[in-house]
Amino acid sequence: MTTKLLSEIKNNLSAMAIASAVFIVFFVMFEVLISAESAKADAKLRVAASHYVATLKSKVDRELNTLLFVSNGLSSYLTIYHHELDHQRVQNVLADLYTRTNNVRNLAIAVGYTITYMYPIQSNEKAIGVDYRNLPQQWPKVKEAIDRHQGVLTGPLDLVQGGRGLIYRYPVYIDQKYWGLLSTVINSDAFFDSAFRPLLNDEFDFAIRDQHGKAVYGDSDLFHRQGAIISTSDFPDAAWEWVVLQKTEKAPQLIVIARLMGIVIAVLLSALVYFLLRERKMLTALAMHDSLTGLANRRLLDFRLEQALAHAKRFKRNLAILFVDIDHFKKLNDTYGHDVGDALLKVIATRLKSAIRDVDTVSRISGDEFVIVLDELNDINDANVVAGKIIHLFKEQAEVLGERVPMSVSIGVASFGQDGEETTKRLLKKADIALYEAKGAGRNQFRVFTEVEQKSLFDS
Ligand code: GH3
Ligand code: MG
Repeated sequence: MTTKLLSEIKNNLSAMAIASAVFIVFFVMFEVLISAESAKADAKLRVAASHYVATLKSKVDRELNTLLFVSNGLSSYLTIYHHELDHQRVQNVLADLYTRTNNVRNLAIAVGYTITYMYPIQSNEKAIGVDYRNLPQQWPKVKEAIDRHQGVLTGPLDLVQGGRGLIYRYPVYIDQKYWGLLSTVINSDAFFDSAFRPLLNDEFDFAIRDQHGKAVYGDSDLFHRQGAIISTSDFPDAAWEWVVLQKTEKAPQLIVIARLMGIVIAVLLSALVYFLLRERKMLTALAMHDSLTGLANRRLLDFRLEQALAHAKRFKRNLAILFVDIDHFKKLNDTYGHDVGDALLKVIATRLKSAIRDVDTVSRISGDEFVIVLDELNDINDANVVAGKIIHLFKEQAEVLGERVPMSVSIGVASFGQDGEETTKRLLKKADIALYEAKGAGRNQFRVFTEVEQKSLFDS
């Protein structure tokens, strides 16, 4: 199995190299396309996410401003009437403002630092009369608002009354002097719920945290997830961080599928190229080889002989051809059958190949006729040595299909010795004449084409 694979690779190296190149080209092409598409999809997602978070932010902004605006109105009222404040009247103003807002838990006014007015009063009575400076949990933020002369938004924090709330503290200054503090407690859960409910969708998850990393809304884990898109927003003294994340990560799955498809297509294309090239090589080989023995056929012999002769002439080298014909092959066929005859032809091919070098060509040109081209001979007599070796090889009986078959061959040798005039046709004819000589002399021997015969060749 492994050797079969190895020989497949060895025989088709060029087809394999081209197929690999095709694979690499297509693989790289698909990768570039996929990367470009995924970058595009990513950019699109970022735009959609940014758009979504901008919508959320502006919604919170609007809702919060409506509530915070209450403090401004109340501040104006107090600035104008601070000399003649009537308790019941102030309570009425608070009650009116309360009914105009949603999600406000209570509104309170501290004159100086003492909580004096509160709406709704129910369940908040205890707060009346409390001095902020005696509330260690609240005082720092209250002081901060007073010192900074501006509203401060705190929370969400757990409220004493239960639930979570945002507190907006707004200091009132009259004639540049601190007068008191307005405090709006917003029911944060209800506030976010009513603000975000119309904007929730199936595509994005989001969450908010404050500048200290404390959760304001949603699941803070989203901040640590891959693909999280984080941005900030500023409210009066409250910087919030927002995170948006795509709920179902469709894009990475699609990229994996596209990548796999790209690899499959590249593999299929390269395999197709490989098999086409291999097929072509096989067809070319078939057109040039004898199908029974696998030796070169007449066409390939002509081609090789042309090349060898041209080379010999150009570089003044010796060249010889051996015309080999099996003796009484017809009889062998008749005695042992055609199948044995075919098997013998294969044995003969193997024996002939074993007698020569790899660079030399053995061809089967018809029935039981073979031609061997001996190229680049140092000595022209080396051809006779090879011919003698072949005759000797056939002394051994061939064992085919359970039969032991004695056989012999006759050989005609012709060589090119740099006379410059030679053609392949004449060289073959000379070898054929020498073969005829060998047959006539009793077979099972070789004959070399001689000058005498040369003369008769020219005369004919
Ligand atoms: P000779 O010694 O004079 O060469 O005698 P021969 O019988 O070999 O005569 P020849 O070379 O003229 O005969 C060739 C025979 O080879 C004729 C045919 O029966 C046989 N032959 C030709 N092609 C094939 C083949 O493909 N397979 C087999 N089994 N026999 C073939
Ligand atoms: Mg013969």
